[in-house]
Amino acid sequence: MRVTKLFTRTLRDAPADEVAKNAQLLIRAGYVYKEMAGVYAYLPLGIRVIEKIKQIVREEMDAIDSNELIMTGLQRRDVWEKTGRWDDETVDVWFKTKLKDDTELGLGWSHEEPIVEMMKQYVKSYKDLPVSLYQFQTKMRNELRAKSGIMRGREFVMKDMYSFHASAEDLAAYYDKTIEAYKRVYDRLGIGAETYVTFASGGAFTKFSHEFQTICDAGEDIIYLHREKNIAVNEEVIDEAVAELGIQREEFEKVKTAEMGNIFNFGTQKTDEMGLYYTGEDGTKKSLHIGSYGIGITRAMGVIAEKFSDDKGLIWPTAIAPYHVYLVSIGQNGQQEADKVYEQLVSAGIEVLYDDRDERPGAKFADAELMGIPLRLTISDRGIEAGKHELTTRVNGETTLVSATELIDEVAQKLL
Ligand code: ATP
Ligand code: MG
Repeated sequence: MRVTKLFTRTLRDAPADEVAKNAQLLIRAGYVYKEMAGVYAYLPLGIRVIEKIKQIVREEMDAIDSNELIMTGLQRRDVWEKTGRWDDETVDVWFKTKLKDDTELGLGWSHEEPIVEMMKQYVKSYKDLPVSLYQFQTKMRNELRAKSGIMRGREFVMKDMYSFHASAEDLAAYYDKTIEAYKRVYDRLGIGAETYVTFASGGAFTKFSHEFQTICDAGEDIIYLHREKNIAVNEEVIDEAVAELGIQREEFEKVKTAEMGNIFNFGTQKTDEMGLYYTGEDGTKKSLHIGSYGIGITRAMGVIAEKFSDDKGLIWPTAIAPYHVYLVSIGQNGQQEADKVYEQLVSAGIEVLYDDRDERPGAKFADAELMGIPLRLTISDRGIEAGKHELTTRVNGETTLVSATELIDEVAQKLL
């Protein structure tokens, strides 16, 4: 993509009312547009990041045999009434609306009840089980506070997955498999080392649920961390956990984190409430066991923006950077050579943002840094004379000189 063709320019300032670092940087760099508090549009650079995060999640969910679908944004009142969760006292984040004939509808803040309802049509016998389904959906939530930028949206993208099983054992095995799949997701996003599987408040059937908490100063959660034993506990359940695990409270370190994902074992509670059963091999009617598994896609982008940034701007991990290389041309010959190199890099499968503007080098460098593209390649009149181009790594600012013949290999090497 050529910068002269790219929609969005970098901005000197974020809106005065934007207090979150992640949103300030993302707005200034041209990734998101703030519509109102907690409501952001994702611009061309932003959706490239979102799509890359989604693709990593998609590959890992497909690898555990989950099936992708898309549920509806508009939801039925009667479905949610079956579990008592239509009630605004019980669920305090509902946005609700009405059809012309006054039929009340909800705007999807979760899809647990609608998917259990849907499965009544598809799950009849033990032969239909197990089954796992997932989607990427924009959830609508009337969150009380929305001061964390895209880390807490009033509309935000979530990956939600639901698994349906004939027995508690089968669900438990799939639950463990999902924990491993989630770990692979966070590893691939570049935050694995700082993301902890954390004991959190449980559902009806298990003492604890599990959250995936990433260390982040701007996070809204506090966990107790035992680094040596690799045990993390949400402060909500620290008393129960201390009793259960036999570890003293003082042995834990208290850290601020952001909840990147969570998984719940619902047992048969929800399926019993909603009347979803199956016929067992022995011909009798049996209760279904279900699990529910979320990942905050836009929150992940926000947390990564918060964590991987410096005073110059964003610093994307290569796996989710909107482009791999920011190509800067300086001077007339520089421009001609850069045009050629741009084509070569693109043919080699490298994603390039080519700053072909008639701008000062300093302005181009500043934009490359603000946007957080992992590698900057500078092709200048002077460099062409010396037979060397400049390759600069965003994360540490290191520059190496590379000859034209080695260029593609060097770039590919540095992106690994
Ligand atoms: P939180 O405690 O942060 O409000 P939650 O318990 O409501 O999260 P779930 O409803 O289980 O979370 O949603 C699954 C995942 O979606 C969360 O782990 C988080 O990563 C993400 N998420 C939840 N609420 C928001 C939000 N308002 N904005 C962005 N992401 C969110
Ligand atoms: Mg919430």
